[in-house]
Amino acid sequence: MISLAQRLARPEILALPPTDTAAAAGGAPIGRSIKLDANENPFAPLVAGSIAASVNRYPEPQPVALRQRLADLYGCAPSQLWATRGSDDAIDLLIRTFCVPGTDSIAIVEPTFSAYAQFARVQGARVISARLTDDLLFDAEAVIAACVDAKPKLLFLCTPNNPTGTPVDPADVLAIARALPDTLVVADEAYIEFADTPSLVPQVGGNLLVLRTLSKAYGLAGARIGCLIADPEIIELASRASPPYPLPSLSIAATLDALAAERMPLHAERIARLKADRDALASRLRAVPEIQSIRTGGNFLFLEVADPAALAQRLAAAGIRLRFRPNAAPGGVRVTVGTEAENAAMLAVFGLTETTRPGRRAELVRDTKETRIAVAIDLDRSEPRSIHTGIGFYDHMLDQVAAHGGFSLTLACTGDLEIDPHHSVEDIALALGAALRQALGDKRGIGRFGFALPMDEVRAEVLIDLSGRPFSKFDGHFDTPEVGGLPTQMVPHIFRSLADSMACAIHVKVEGDNDHHKVEGCFKAFGRALRMGLSVGGSDTLPSTKGVL
Ligand code: PMP
Repeated sequence: MISLAQRLARPEILALPPTDTAAAAGGAPIGRSIKLDANENPFAPLVAGSIAASVNRYPEPQPVALRQRLADLYGCAPSQLWATRGSDDAIDLLIRTFCVPGTDSIAIVEPTFSAYAQFARVQGARVISARLTDDLLFDAEAVIAACVDAKPKLLFLCTPNNPTGTPVDPADVLAIARALPDTLVVADEAYIEFADTPSLVPQVGGNLLVLRTLSKAYGLAGARIGCLIADPEIIELASRASPPYPLPSLSIAATLDALAAERMPLHAERIARLKADRDALASRLRAVPEIQSIRTGGNFLFLEVADPAALAQRLAAAGIRLRFRPNAAPGGVRVTVGTEAENAAMLAVFGLTETTRPGRRAELVRDTKETRIAVAIDLDRSEPRSIHTGIGFYDHMLDQVAAHGGFSLTLACTGDLEIDPHHSVEDIALALGAALRQALGDKRGIGRFGFALPMDEVRAEVLIDLSGRPFSKFDGHFDTPEVGGLPTQMVPHIFRSLADSMACAIHVKVEGDNDHHKVEGCFKAFGRALRMGLSVGGSDTLPSTKGVL
């Protein structure tokens, strides 16, 4: 029996041979073969640094590692996924694969992302429009009614919708796919990471397809990496319309780097932060009389304002770009959630000025041949705490530091633990100290000093001075070589690394019998001392007569 994909694909596509995604050079694996097959230039590019090292060579047509990473990220099989130049490219690919110019159509639910109709028009495909309700809600019945007779080849459902933020209930998408068996129903989940509805990737198959992108949630818009997730037969047909090497090697490398295991907790933290910031912006903007309605969804807000022309003038004067969307609503404006400073500038255009001091936050990645570390710290929030050093006991100790220090800490490391914990332990301390130092910023209003605590028979005392001058002193000894996989001789070394990278003085004194208690006492007391040192009192002055710390 002829399959749905075969039935819907353009005859020209069916006539093409399948794409050779492996592009094996005469059977020899790429990378290890002598490549005289692709008319490349044999010389390394004249670009400084290692990032561009092999750009004289074509990339793999569908890089195996990237396809596997994306499949893992989204929860599908690599054969169900085609990596594209942004999800824009996936939209274009689908339309070129399935729509016969002058004959076929696509359907969209307006107002929505403009690229669906644009690519359709370029291909000579008609555009059938259903609409959101007057309240900008999704109406599955109206969508089915618009498509049932017209039988568009493709129906694009953007969820949550750009620009209105409207979510589409996954149950509605599935019902639509069932009601329109001769249409490929494409859920564009460009912003799904910021939504409360689950992804439809687990349901992909038959006539249900999903688009995903790294541009929004993973901060890789400039890399231009997205993907189509569909039944393998649809993937195979769409791949025939793909250019031979669609993805630049620099983008492939940057993506694999940005999606490495130790980066993922930071991504999760950033996504959660953007959602929280979006909702906080919405509640602040609700007090502004010129804003008639606010919707949220994705990493943006959709506002309806009374006088868009006046707003445009104020924005131009402030050098801020928002996206006006008069087709969606007469006063429709889409506002992307930015950094704290960018959001504050946007709020100021609506007459809302900040009275609180800027947040004390730092993020850093630190990579060497021995360790790869990603850290995020927020001194003004106590959650989240997510620590993955690879050494259970060290996780526990750093969790003590953050919990007793009263700050949020997301830290993950991929290290050469198969050699020894030393590199990971030391580099993590260095990275943590550097992040703390960065988050402290100008140090205005902080306290400086220290803390002592008992832990059963142990007395641990930590004094710190966030002085800008590195110094460390450790007074104590351990009888056992390690506690929970953490070598005890690394404990003084950790405090020394922290003192060096935080540029502060740390004096630790610990006495007692049980080494577990002693180590834990040091970290807890350090956390408590940090809490005192980092806390911002009412005053904005520097706790130094020198005027600089
Ligand atoms: N889908 C939607 C709904 C979008 O808003 C966008 C970009 N604004 C895209 C797809 C394309 O994103 P990219 O090509 O960067 O993956």
